[in-house]
Amino acid sequence: MSNGILYVVATPIGHLDDLSVRARTVLSSVSLIAAEDTRHSAKLLNTIGCQTPMLSLHEHNEQHRTVELLSRLQSGIDIALISDAGTPLISDPGYGLVRELVAQGIRIIPIPGACAAIAALSVSGLPTARFIFEGFPGAKPNKRRERLRELVSEPRTMVFYEAPHRCQETLVDMVAIFGADRRVALCRELTKLHETCYYETLGELLRRAEQDPDLSRGEIVLVVAGAPEKPNKTIDIEAERLLFALLEELPASQAAKLTAKILGSNRGELYEMAVKHKAETQ
Ligand code: SAM
Repeated sequence: MSNGILYVVATPIGHLDDLSVRARTVLSSVSLIAAEDTRHSAKLLNTIGCQTPMLSLHEHNEQHRTVELLSRLQSGIDIALISDAGTPLISDPGYGLVRELVAQGIRIIPIPGACAAIAALSVSGLPTARFIFEGFPGAKPNKRRERLRELVSEPRTMVFYEAPHRCQETLVDMVAIFGADRRVALCRELTKLHETCYYETLGELLRRAEQDPDLSRGEIVLVVAGAPEKPNKTIDIEAERLLFALLEELPASQAAKLTAKILGSNRGELYEMAVKHKAETQ
């Protein structure tokens, strides 16, 4: 008997019409749906008239559910995985299951659809060619700040999820670490009745959050501009070698001037490097 298939099915993040026709078909045709919260998903399944049995798969039971689901797939039945909203595995359970099924050679088919991160990025007005997804920056202030500090020079657009009650404190940390002038898009309640997007600087957004309690209600994605790219250093190894040799006999300014004259490198950068080298070697 051949193995069954796991379908990883995206569900709406608000607007029910965002459940694709293909997702409906799959949810109704599989033998079992593994859902993050079966009571929550029952509402969605009821609205589409789907009667497929469900079992729960969440962060506290994922390990033993993986064993169980693997054996059911090996017995030939098809299963769908859904989470409470959006794409499973994206800040949601399912990674442990999918990793194990990949290792066991089980076929996994994505049924793509809503994802808050991608929806927010697509309307953020920030560069989309290269971006990183950071998920939730963390509930503990020290850990959160440490993570944000690691991102201070990140040039790509950054996408964060945040719980509404933590939005303001995260903005305080972002202003302190990324600077008040960084551009940001805050996307709230996407696809829902009160959908709102603010496009401003982190400083402006923090002032807004302090004055408007509504900003901290509902579901939120923060899309933050990457750090401005630093110009590439133009000094190559050859220039560095010559500069360091000259520095053994000459003061920094003369060594930099001569190296620049001989090799045509940037004198200012050479001087900066010379001063640093002298300080390190004296
Ligand atoms: N798997 C989901 C996805 O594909 O987007 C994300 C699940 S994660 C547990 C929940 C977080 O996603 C929320 O705290 C919020 O940051 C973001 N989110 C979910 N739905 C949203 C919506 N309608 N508008 C804005 N953000 C949303």
